[in-house]
Amino acid sequence: MGLRHVLFLWILVNNKSKSSSDKDVILNILSVLTDLLSLGTGRRIHYVISKGGTEALLQALAIAARTEPPDHSILLPLLRLLARVGQRDRKFGLKVQKAEATDIILGLARRNLSHHLYLTHCLWVLRVCASNVTTGTTLGTNGTMELLFKVITPYSKRHVRTVRAAIEALAALLKSKSNSRRAVNKGYLGGLLRLYQDWHHHDVSNNYIYIRRGLLLCLKHITNIQLGRETFLGSLGMEILFTSVQDCLSCKNLDPIITTATQILRKCYPKEPLPVATLRSSYSFPLPGIAKSENPYEGSEGDYESDGEEETEKDLDNEDVESKEEDYDLETDVNKLKTRPVLDRPEEELGQYEAMCPELSHNFQEFESEPEEEKTLEDKTESSAPFHFIPNATSVKHANYRWRKQSATEMGPDPKEKDFKVPLQNLTKKEKCRWHPIDEKRDIIKAAQDAGSCEDEDRAKSHAITLRPLPNEAAWYKKMFYSECEYSINPSPGGRLESSDVATNLLEKHQGDIPFHSPRIYIAKAKCVKSIPDYKDLAFPDFWGHQSPPYSKPMLERKYGVQRDKVLDDVRRLIQPDDVIGRTVFDLDEPSHSSPRLPGSLTFFSKFESGNLRKAIQVREFEYDLIMNADVNSNQHHQWFYFEVRDMKLAVPYRFNVINCEKFNSQFNYGMQLVIYSVKEALQGRPRWLRAGYDICYYKNHYCCSAAAGGGMSGKCYYTLTFSIKFPHNDDVCYLAYHYPYTYSAMMAHLDILEQNRNPKKVYWRQQTLCQTLGGNPCPLLTITAMPESKKRDDLEQFYNRPYVFLMARVHPGESNASWVMKGTLEFLVSSDPIADLLRKCFIFKIVPMLNPDGVINGNHRCSLSGDDLNRQWLTPNSQVHPTIYHAKGLLYYLRSIGRAPLVFCDYHGHSQKKNVFLYGCSIKETLWQAGCMVDTAVITEDVGYRTLPKILDKVAPAFVMNSCSFLVEKSRESTARVVVWREIGVLRSYTMESTYCGCSHGLYKGLQLGTQELEEMGSKLCLGLLILHLKSLPCSKKLMAQAALLLDLEEEITDRAQRSCSNSSLETDDEPPCVEEIDYNTDSSSDGERDFSELDQEIQECLSWAEGETEDEGLTTGQSCSSKALRGLYISSQPTPNSTALPLRSTALGVYSGFESSPA
Ligand SMILES: [Zn+2]
Repeated sequence: MGLRHVLFLWILVNNKSKSSSDKDVILNILSVLTDLLSLGTGRRIHYVISKGGTEALLQALAIAARTEPPDHSILLPLLRLLARVGQRDRKFGLKVQKAEATDIILGLARRNLSHHLYLTHCLWVLRVCASNVTTGTTLGTNGTMELLFKVITPYSKRHVRTVRAAIEALAALLKSKSNSRRAVNKGYLGGLLRLYQDWHHHDVSNNYIYIRRGLLLCLKHITNIQLGRETFLGSLGMEILFTSVQDCLSCKNLDPIITTATQILRKCYPKEPLPVATLRSSYSFPLPGIAKSENPYEGSEGDYESDGEEETEKDLDNEDVESKEEDYDLETDVNKLKTRPVLDRPEEELGQYEAMCPELSHNFQEFESEPEEEKTLEDKTESSAPFHFIPNATSVKHANYRWRKQSATEMGPDPKEKDFKVPLQNLTKKEKCRWHPIDEKRDIIKAAQDAGSCEDEDRAKSHAITLRPLPNEAAWYKKMFYSECEYSINPSPGGRLESSDVATNLLEKHQGDIPFHSPRIYIAKAKCVKSIPDYKDLAFPDFWGHQSPPYSKPMLERKYGVQRDKVLDDVRRLIQPDDVIGRTVFDLDEPSHSSPRLPGSLTFFSKFESGNLRKAIQVREFEYDLIMNADVNSNQHHQWFYFEVRDMKLAVPYRFNVINCEKFNSQFNYGMQLVIYSVKEALQGRPRWLRAGYDICYYKNHYCCSAAAGGGMSGKCYYTLTFSIKFPHNDDVCYLAYHYPYTYSAMMAHLDILEQNRNPKKVYWRQQTLCQTLGGNPCPLLTITAMPESKKRDDLEQFYNRPYVFLMARVHPGESNASWVMKGTLEFLVSSDPIADLLRKCFIFKIVPMLNPDGVINGNHRCSLSGDDLNRQWLTPNSQVHPTIYHAKGLLYYLRSIGRAPLVFCDYHGHSQKKNVFLYGCSIKETLWQAGCMVDTAVITEDVGYRTLPKILDKVAPAFVMNSCSFLVEKSRESTARVVVWREIGVLRSYTMESTYCGCSHGLYKGLQLGTQELEEMGSKLCLGLLILHLKSLPCSKKLMAQAALLLDLEEEITDRAQRSCSNSSLETDDEPPCVEEIDYNTDSSSDGERDFSELDQEIQECLSWAEGETEDEGLTTGQSCSSKALRGLYISSQPTPNSTALPLRSTALGVYSGFESSPA
């Protein structure tokens, strides 16, 4: 006999006995039900609900309430059961209304106003009813709030349990916006505030936390409406709550109070527009020839309060909302998923890309005569002769547009100079890079002077660029340079130091120990960059270089309550404005703000390559609000920042708040730190970007933009990234950035150095220009493979027939991690590592290392100069507006047209919401399965080879995690490189590689933040993965296999080719737990703990023991009709009922509920 039977019996008795004649039976059944439900888990209650238990209880209630006088021995257990079952029944409100039970319960409550035990029972059920908004609204119009208010006011410590139940019922009622409105209009808000103050002041020993919190919940719900917030402000609510919270901070028990009060304070803090004249970027770019509709969302006036208040009230009965939101975006149209070889341009156009595949027509004549001489000559002509095809971004001239013909390699040292070599220490980077020694020797300085000659050769194409001034009063620095450059360190205020002076002197001291970096080449490249602000300054870190620190930093442990503390500190600006300075100390839009040093404040600067900081406001002595610049020609995409700060004091904790972040959450809440670079540290031999900052958190703030200014998004809100920093030196010059910067000039310099350092006998290397960008910067295209072993026909054939691998990075400029991974890939590819050697023999690599140079240069986060996300343009790229995408796609089309579509395509990105490194790929079947499609997937044939590479990487790359990979095709991604290359070019292995900005949650680097070294390693491991993929998936010559077998311990790997089965994917959609603290104060549901059923259960339980013990201030008084028999019989859950024998079912052991299948506990 199990629950099912009890229930059945119960319903039977219930229906049969319209009178209370069977009272004993009913009592017994109630008792057993109570017993069963309090011992079981939620599953039992859900079982009861599913079998119509709620309806049965409501029906019984109607009958019991009708009897005169009401029989409380039946009513009370009924009400308790209703409260317990009702809170778990998502359709409870609907059922209550159907049974017309609201009036019954309300009537019972009114009758028992003076009997607190009965009243409390009614209030529990009212509270549960009110958790349904519609029912709550009905109750509100029927005068429930008036009744409750009468119970809770004025302040009194008598009948606290009843008061608590009333307050909690009121809080539930106030979730209805019309109830809130009614409450405000009746003046209850002020009353609640006063009541809260009374409880706060009198509850010195914190015995009534739940009452105080209940009152706060009332205030929290009431302030969901604008009228509520206004009244709250007018009633000095901010001051009252803020002050009360200060008293609570020291006591950890009071967390529920502090948390709720803080949520209210955040919500009611008056909304403000961002303190900028316009949301549009400080940098604008006239789009050539295209009248792109000017964004009309100017200005920032408007209603900041309309936060969807008028929306229809949500009815919680309409559940199943959570069902399939993730899958909604999946592409389920099989035709759209299938490979679709169509061309987005006239076929004739493809011919031009033949020139971008010089490897296919190279005849290697140089093998006959003097190989080196010939080859370099050819190199020379190839790069310096006006190339017959450099696709033109635009023909319209504008201020920043300067046409350049020369390819970038021209700026490097003359390749004819055979005696060039980077000093040895540059070559000993990691053991993976085993360079062949080159006989010829020359000093890097000399080589770099060649590089620096760019300016002399062609003044028109470069401009003066100055290194940022070094730290003041730098004794160590004077000692280093005084004799050589006395004049240049003259600290004349504002006096610019000529880069040639300081830089030259600095360079002589540069230890040259940063692999693949040369400050001279960097300067030379930076001079040729075309930027919208026309940069005149060179940031020190980019110039001097970054050397990965010898250790990895663990993820930052989140300090308890850090967000709360920061938010309260923000609120303090409003309540205690005495120490608020509010002075703009830096403003891109008003240069007058920027230059002179203000006493007592930090000095900021951001006008350099990749720099992004629009405005800095000194809030308090050591606290600054920072505003990032929007992407060029847009009013959004704030995430990337990179700026200089100077004039700091040693060891003082400075707090910075980046106040216009947009993403709803950030890895800054999960252990990520920003990066800092100190010039003093660098000059002392530690040139490195380091993870830094503490007290970091990310939360929604009170800045908002009107619907108009927000680009149509109604009441768009901003988020604050806050962090504190203690600078390592007094009066240092430091740079802070979102992530390790990697500029366009850094990439261009890197390519030069790579080319110079390769072994030309082994490495075939061509650098061409894919096209010019809108901003007039060349977008380089690389071809890397192995030189053929000889000129013999077989070897040449092998050379020409190598499959292609196409790699790209940095379409999103803020994702600098992608560039570091690409750096690792490139360095490995040209290295003399035998694995690299083998890999080059397997593939021809086509690489676009930076698809969005303009975005990178101008400090954008997401877009190009046109304000478009270039990775959403792949379906129909515009040759004028999206030249790099247009031509990258064109080249891919060309490769396909000659039957040489790449074996692997991979686009490197950074991911700001997840940890680890992982791939996104494309699979028809997995998409259809995930979407639950009815299509017969058995008839669709799909090569599962797309899973091989990620599986390999999971084994060989420590930062890579297979479980984070996904192969689903989403509609919203249909215009990304990955999906278009998969579908239109027909590349099975088309991937997006996502690298975290933060760190790893799995594997070797678990718990650590990634540094540049780990990112670069990922790039080289991808290469290794490609080699293994080749060995596993493609026919290989015996020779190649033998070579590979020597290098790789992969016999197992290689032999199990057949075993490419597609195992069940374990997709991780979300890898972060819910936030410790509420980032967004408007998500006010679960934070009440209203889904936490145990709370009310416990309340009921406590109340019972109190009723039995009759000890409290509100015990049963004599003469009340609640018989102890009833109490005993009904409150039994822990003890056997005396009359249990009356019911045969009771004798069944608890463990064998046959009606309750598998899990009795
Ligand atoms: Zn991206």
